Order: sequence, then structure tokens, then C-alpha cells
Amino acid sequence: MLSTLIYRSRAVTPMTAQDLTDLLTPARARNAAMQVTGILLFDGVHFVQLLEGPDEAVNLIFDAIQRDDAHRNVVLLMRDHGPARRFGGDAMALLDLRELGPQQVSSRILAKMKQPPRWAGSDDRVVKILGWYADARGTDPIVEGEEAANWQLVAIDAPLAQEDPAAPARPYPFALQPIVNPLRREITSFEFLIRSQAGGSPEQLFASLDPADRYRVDLESKASAFELARRLGLTDVKLSVNLLPMSLIEDPSAVDRLVDQVAACALLPQHVIVEITEQEAIERPRAFRDAIERLRRAGIGVAIDDFGAGYAGLSLLAEFQPDKLKIDRQLIQNVHQDGPRQAIVSGIARACCAMGITPVAEGVERVEEWCWLQAAGIERFQGYLFAKPALNGVPAVRWPERIRPR
Ligand code: C2E
Ligand code: MN
Ligand code: MN
Repeated sequence: MLSTLIYRSRAVTPMTAQDLTDLLTPARARNAAMQVTGILLFDGVHFVQLLEGPDEAVNLIFDAIQRDDAHRNVVLLMRDHGPARRFGGDAMALLDLRELGPQQVSSRILAKMKQPPRWAGSDDRVVKILGWYADARGTDPIVEGEEAANWQLVAIDAPLAQEDPAAPARPYPFALQPIVNPLRREITSFEFLIRSQAGGSPEQLFASLDPADRYRVDLESKASAFELARRLGLTDVKLSVNLLPMSLIEDPSAVDRLVDQVAACALLPQHVIVEITEQEAIERPRAFRDAIERLRRAGIGVAIDDFGAGYAGLSLLAEFQPDKLKIDRQLIQNVHQDGPRQAIVSGIARACCAMGITPVAEGVERVEEWCWLQAAGIERFQGYLFAKPALNGVPAVRWPERIRPR
């Protein structure tokens, strides 16, 4: 099957026309032997390249490009299948962007394209992507993260607090994971993640319950979370707890009970954030809106959790604007090498800005991901890179430390 792949990258050092020829000659021979053709756009620093050919060959060449020391910031922009080659010929076409003014790129790309009726000309996604990245290179819409090698992560402080092992077992154990602003070395909140008595995951815990008890247990368990916060002395930091939307609705006094739990532990409602996912499409939208209103009136913060996964979508965000928007790990994973994820996440970050919402990136595991997200304007992070959840205690945080100038 015929594959089409587009990536962008940046030359490690600026290149002259001669450097480019030296780079291209062997690459062209290799590509031709593997029946891979396409087009390369270059401006002396940035590459945008389309590869087209048999699936296997395109994958092999792209793997080699990702390992090639001459490029960095290799970002996959598109991978697709098509009925025929767009550029064809027996070599990689080259377009030197230094010779072109703005807005001239698309017409030059079209001029290099084969013209069978199979391709929709300027309506073709390939033409649009190549044209957009060629025009936008080096400007604002393209976010490039700092080099991960400039940073290392260091654990500075010992675990802040740990539950006394002699303390009596609580009905519901919780693991705590910090949400951090790494450049300020600040823990902005702790998320309380429920565990079973045996330390099992929330999924295991909820699966072991009679479905009729789920919402009641979910709400009740929050008393243990606030109690743990009090015992650990977490009185002047924000505390995030998770609740199913139905846990806030099923019992009409749910919000009042939550407020009472907070007060009983001498915590301030302003310090509490309720994270909500749309796990089960919200069945009773009016009751849900009512519950959110009552949370707001009590001074409790609200976050949309797992944004971008499953049901936690744009209509929930259009319906109500939370204090925080937690971007799901599926969008965060490998964002530094993924064009569509970058487009979506920077769009979310911009939308958050306009609505006064704080975006939080969830599930950050790699320095590269953090560098890109930070460059995209996100300042709050949760993930194994900084800290893993700790059962009944506060884990040590690893903070980024600059080891090389930018
Ligand atoms: P969540 O609210 O999105 O919580 C984050 C989950 O991602 C946690 O899993 C955490 O351990 C995990 N995580 C954090 N950083 C990373 C990372 O860098 N990589 C990876 N792979 N995972 C990371 P956990 O504790 O298993 O919780 C799963 C889900 O269970 C939570 O997702 C939340 O939706 C739900 N949950 C937790 N506690 C409660 C609760 O008290 N009530 C309800 N209704 N749901 C809860
Ligand atoms: Mn959560
Ligand atoms: Mn989440």
C-alpha cells in the first residue's frame, strides 16, 4: 500500500545550498532504491518533507531520519494512505523556500505536483499542510520546545510528610500526587487518588463494589481524603479530589455533605478542587449544572478531568468553565514529536487563556514533553516525571534544573 508521511524538523546547524546537496545526494539514492519519492522544503534551517512510497519503505526511512544527527525536533505532521503518488518522478523534488515570498509556497507546490484527477489540488490536505508549515516556520504558530538535554531533574527535598505507620487503618486509603509549577518549584496542589484497602487502583476498588453503592462510597470516601490532608498538615495548599458526576447528583444533599466534610477537617473550601470527568455521559444535565452551581457558591473549585478523552469534550467546556482544565495523558504522550497533538494542545492552551482557565498537563513522563508543553504556554504539570503518587503520604518532587544554557 502507498503511504504518505510529512514531518518537519530543524537542521542542527544552518546549512548552505552546498551542504544541502551533500546531504541530499546519498539520501536521494537511498530513497530511489526503496521507491520513495516526495518533496523537500527547506529554508536553510527548517525542513518540511513529504515521503511517499510503500508503507514499509516510508517507515524505514522515517526511522532513519529520526535517528539522524543532522536534524532535531523531528515532528510527525501527517501519516496517511493514498491511491497514487502526488509528486512521483524518480527523485525527491526540492523547493528552496529562501527563493520564495510569502503566499508563493502553495502555488509552487501545486506546480510540482502530478496532475491526475485523483488529487484535489489546493483542497488536498497535503498541499494545505505543506503550505501552512512552510509559511509558518520560525513564527509564532509553531511551538518548538527547548532541548531536553539542557535540563536534568533533581530531587531536592525529602518526602514532606508521611502518615504515621502506627495510625489506625482508614476506611479509604488515598495516594497523593503533586501538581507542580516546575519553573517556580512550587507545588500548586495535591491530587487525592483513592486506593483499595490492599492498595489496589480506583478501578479495582469501584469494580469490587455493588453498583448501587458506588456513588455513596465515592462521596463518603472524600471524608477520608480530607482527614488525611489534615493529618499530613496540608492546610495551606490546594487539595484536588475526584468525583463522578453522578456522585454529586444522586444524593440531593451531596454538595452540602462535601462542604461539611471539608469543615469537619478545619479546611477551607477555597482550598478544595473537585475534579470531574464525563466518564458516564452526564445523565441529568440540569441536576449536574445545579450541583456545579452549589459547589461554586460554597467556594469550592472545579476542574474538568481527562479533557480530550472519551466524553470529556468541548460541549462540557462550552457549558461550564472550570477553574482548571486537565488535559488527558493521551494528548500529552509524545506531544513533542506529534504535529496533530501539538496543534490540539496549543489550541486548548490558547482557549484556556481566553477563558481564564488554568490548563494542567496530565501524565507527563518525559523531559521532552515538558519542554514542549512549557513552550506552548502551559505552566502546571502532573506526572511521573515530577512525582509518582505516594500512598498516605507526600512524595518527594523532582525539579528541573538547567545544566546547559539555552
Ligand atoms: P485521574 O484523575 O486522571 O488521575 C491520574 C491517574 O494517572 C492516576 O491513576 C495516576 O496514578 C496516574 N498518573 C499520574 N501521572 C502519570 C504518568 O506520568 N503516567 C501514567 N501512566 N500515569 C500517571 P490512578 O490513581 O490509577 O487513578 C485512575 C483514575 O481513577 C483517576 O484518574 C480518577 O479518574 C479515578 N479516581 C481516583 N480517585 C478517585 C475517587 O476518589 N473517586 C472517583 N470517582 N474516581 C477516582
Ligand atoms: Mn483526577
Ligand atoms: Mn485525569
